[in-house]
Amino acid sequence: MKRSIAVFVSCLLVGLAAMLTYCSAPSSQSDNDAPPGGDADGDTDGDADGDADGDADSDADGDTDSDADGDTDSDADGDTDADADGDTDTDTSGPLDCLSLEEFKQTIKTLSDFGDRKQGSASYDEADQWLQQRLEQLGYEVERVEYTYNGSPRSSMYVTIVGSTLPDRMYMVSAHLDGRSGGGAADDDASGVSTVLEMARCFAEAPQPPKVSIRFIFWNNEETGLQGSRAYRNQRKDLQGIEDPVGSGNYPEPNWLGIIQFDMVLYDHGLPPQPDQIPEADLDVSYQKDSVQAAASKELAEALVQGAVLYADDYPAQVGDNMYNTDSAPYEDLIPAVSVRENRRDNEIGNGSNPYYHTAQDVYESYSEEDFLFGFNAVQMTTGTLLDLANP
Ligand SMILES: [Zn+2]
Repeated sequence: MKRSIAVFVSCLLVGLAAMLTYCSAPSSQSDNDAPPGGDADGDTDGDADGDADGDADSDADGDTDSDADGDTDSDADGDTDADADGDTDTDTSGPLDCLSLEEFKQTIKTLSDFGDRKQGSASYDEADQWLQQRLEQLGYEVERVEYTYNGSPRSSMYVTIVGSTLPDRMYMVSAHLDGRSGGGAADDDASGVSTVLEMARCFAEAPQPPKVSIRFIFWNNEETGLQGSRAYRNQRKDLQGIEDPVGSGNYPEPNWLGIIQFDMVLYDHGLPPQPDQIPEADLDVSYQKDSVQAAASKELAEALVQGAVLYADDYPAQVGDNMYNTDSAPYEDLIPAVSVRENRRDNEIGNGSNPYYHTAQDVYESYSEEDFLFGFNAVQMTTGTLLDLANP
């Protein structure tokens, strides 16, 4: 795994019981139990929930028995049932309980407050550094693909959860960190970055990695013409599946199984846009109908739409067939490639379905609780679908 040994060991020895508890603690539908700015922040104490696991002990270690929680039973949570989550097995808990609406909102606010993150600007660099630190706090090793844009050095960052049994293949999930137009680029595309970061946090805090690797990518230069995503494709497509060094089990570029790009996931107020979210608001999962990989991409889109049925609490999704103008497009002839958006790019977003799109009003404060909940459903849909796809 690319996560640091220090964090891994720390999690194992100090926080296993609390970590398991955190990731499996029952939560309400909209998961409001993590306080804003509270302890759902990827640190290693794991105790974000006020010891909501139902047991009485509070120490995570500190004695000589062999499990992590200071009691004498054989599982890790300090109760007497056989599973690891401390409940009594009416078990409404699940692997998506690590997702937090409040974390999702807070990341969008933080990025929006940096400014529009135009490529090459100070606000981009500040957001880039913040995001790198955030990923490192979660235990990831941040890597970069470097390239030149108009003669100046640029990079996109990425992190990877290495698969437990199939580390040589991976799904890619991505969004663009750069924005434009002088506001906060909150919907376009802090919302997508927050979606990817929230998934990265959930997978980092899970008790075990998926079988297949997952890479979380944050593109630069989307708004100037997809130069970041093209640079990654061009530099790394021929590195797929190469073990380096031979015999190490280390695959710097696992084979690409598919890419899911998030680009504007907050605002479905219909067309023409209404003041409030429309009752039939739904997520749009698009593939490119005239691409080489159209059939396989449509299949991936349909898997996500089904994932919305299974895992998204409040909103459905539908399949679209005109993905264009986002960072998954450079991959559409190579691998299954889809975008997740609030609306169709062509006849909805392109016709003004978000009045803040590419304006100085695309800031955190322009969006409502319902808008954020809508975006959070994209996180739930994709995390649940990926858990299935990455554990074949
Ligand atoms: Zn965008």
